[in-house]
Amino acid sequence: QAEHVRKPDWLKIKLNTNESYTGLKKLMREQRLNTVCEEAKCPNIHECWAERKTATFMILGDICTRACRFCAVKTGLPTELDEQEPERVADSVSIMGLKHVVITAVARDDLKDGGAKVFAETVRAVRRKSPFTTIEVLPSDMGGKEENLSTLLEANPNIFNYNVETVRRLTPRVRARATYDRTMKVLREAKEMKPSIPTKSSLMIGLGETKEEIMETMDDLRAVNVDILTIGQYLQPTKSHLSIEKYWTPEEFAELKDIALSKGFKHCESGPLVRSSYHADEQVNAAKK
Ligand code: SF4
Ligand code: SF4
Repeated sequence: QAEHVRKPDWLKIKLNTNESYTGLKKLMREQRLNTVCEEAKCPNIHECWAERKTATFMILGDICTRACRFCAVKTGLPTELDEQEPERVADSVSIMGLKHVVITAVARDDLKDGGAKVFAETVRAVRRKSPFTTIEVLPSDMGGKEENLSTLLEANPNIFNYNVETVRRLTPRVRARATYDRTMKVLREAKEMKPSIPTKSSLMIGLGETKEEIMETMDDLRAVNVDILTIGQYLQPTKSHLSIEKYWTPEEFAELKDIALSKGFKHCESGPLVRSSYHADEQVNAAKK
């Protein structure tokens, strides 16, 4: 992180952990499950797990075939496909009593279907065991193939989320393999295939983008009818990841939210600590309006 950009006060928060949190961590190890909440050392973990009853599971292993320059997930040759994982995720969602679950996955470019089948089975297993839990999926582009997207959407998740992550100009520097245009294509196809499922995308800012570029990205997302947008501050996971170019202030985040709503997004979460899954439970209802 460059010397001239010091971490501002609004990002210095204390991790609040208690007994129920420790118990849940133990459950994850026993069930051999990975959560983004833990992997990314998310600052919202206590609020999400204990108060809001939401969590983000990362399925299809913990090793990704890609290496995006902002992401802390390990890169390498993935482990074999674990076909029991859907049931274990479903069990944990039920034990945790989650109201909303986000299911995401590493990119499995080694698999023909990009992991779509196991992903869809996970959605179905959670729905069987916890019929009242809302389910948000946040897949990789699954090779950009329409049939894989369709396999996943057939499981009828409550929200389809696919992150644009950054503005067009910075995409090649920030993301591995995924392109800006392919992102818009995936979001457009999802909407066309299942118009009743709200679509969502997230931007992390602080990588050197301008306000104009953010607004352009909002327009591109609206052009493919994305309903929900989240905007958060990029935080560098380690020194070998992309450095932070700017800390956007809470006031600037608030302004971006107003702009997003004026452009027609049905819901927007925007703030320094906002993560793709933050307050996701509220978004399901907002998107139905
Ligand atoms: Fe987990 Fe997302 Fe909540 Fe962070 S914001 S704790 S990643 S559900
Ligand atoms: Fe991380 Fe996803 Fe990129 Fe893999 S594809 S490195 S999990 S952001």
